[in-house]
Amino acid sequence: MARAFNFSAGPATLPEPVLRQAREELLEWQGERASVMEVSHRGRAFVRCAEEAEADLRALLEIPDSHAVLFLQGGATQHFAQIPLNIAAPGQAADYLVTGAWGQKAFSEAKPYVHPRAAASTEATGFTDVPEPGSWEVDPAAAYLHYTPNETIHGVEFHEVPDSGEVPLVGDFSSTLLSRPIPVSRFGIIYAGAQKNIGPSGLVVLIVRRDLLERSGQARAKILSYAHQAKEGSMLNTPPTFAWYLAGLVFKWLRQQGGLAAMAERNRAKAERLYQAIDGSGGFYRNPVAVRARSWMNVPFTLHDPALDAAFLRESEAAGLLALKGHRAVGGMRASIYNAMPMEGVQALADFMADFARRHG
Ligand SMILES: *Cc1c(COP(=O)(O)O)cnc(C)c1O
Repeated sequence: MARAFNFSAGPATLPEPVLRQAREELLEWQGERASVMEVSHRGRAFVRCAEEAEADLRALLEIPDSHAVLFLQGGATQHFAQIPLNIAAPGQAADYLVTGAWGQKAFSEAKPYVHPRAAASTEATGFTDVPEPGSWEVDPAAAYLHYTPNETIHGVEFHEVPDSGEVPLVGDFSSTLLSRPIPVSRFGIIYAGAQKNIGPSGLVVLIVRRDLLERSGQARAKILSYAHQAKEGSMLNTPPTFAWYLAGLVFKWLRQQGGLAAMAERNRAKAERLYQAIDGSGGFYRNPVAVRARSWMNVPFTLHDPALDAAFLRESEAAGLLALKGHRAVGGMRASIYNAMPMEGVQALADFMADFARRHG
């Protein structure tokens, strides 16, 4: 059996050359006569691997010295809570732009620690657009403004960085980090669970402006403190070493591909190809998101007749196109087309969709 094109939303497809390299060095890594999973995280080989991963990530995203890079655990979900714990006083105001299911979850998980306010929400219109720039007012006393640059379930993406004034901007980049260049200096915190566009699950990449590490935040154990993690090089305890190593291989692969400007070009072209397949289907397929807010990473679409869903899923899987079932909150289908999905995969899906519509139209 050959590897198929995998459109899973996460854990998601990884670059094949990265998987091949990991297989190649799985048993004996870096002259250690053991695998990367079996050596001390404090040993010379792993420390070098960890430092190289950070250096490559810094080069890719052009992360300035003003920002620390942390490699943490807990998934993005834990950081919905850990961010207010670290940078907000108990019960302090915190603003949220709510543009989908993940923004909603970030908002509600912050409630034990802060007083969250939806500075803007697109819930009333079914999470099919981003709010008009300038339509929200940030509370100047807010600890931060949180938003979700790409809503993985609803397929809604900000293609501009929102203006938060003097209030630190916090972005949950779980499903879009590394898909394109971003102006890191405009952010207080950028964070992402790795399993969409970075590497395997179990790892969170968090980029934090150093002055925010000096905020007293709220009572918390050291393990929950970003300042302590920064001081200890993200090794306060045993980090997820294999996930960190694999993310490092992905960073090297991205640099070989020409970096994030090249990835942005490819991702834009892939998304365009898929939206063309939907919009050009004469209503057989439909994506409800406003054109300006359509995601480059997650493309939800419905079939004109939901009775055809089961056949679509069965036949697409048989054609080597995996994991197209949509999230239950939205229904229909969803194609996740992260960095590691080549244009050939998107083209194969577009061809399948046209053929399916012809046969069932
Ligand atoms: C997947 C996802 C999450 C949740 O990530 P976990 O690592 O499972 O906690 C949060 N936010 C966004 C935008 C996501 O795509």
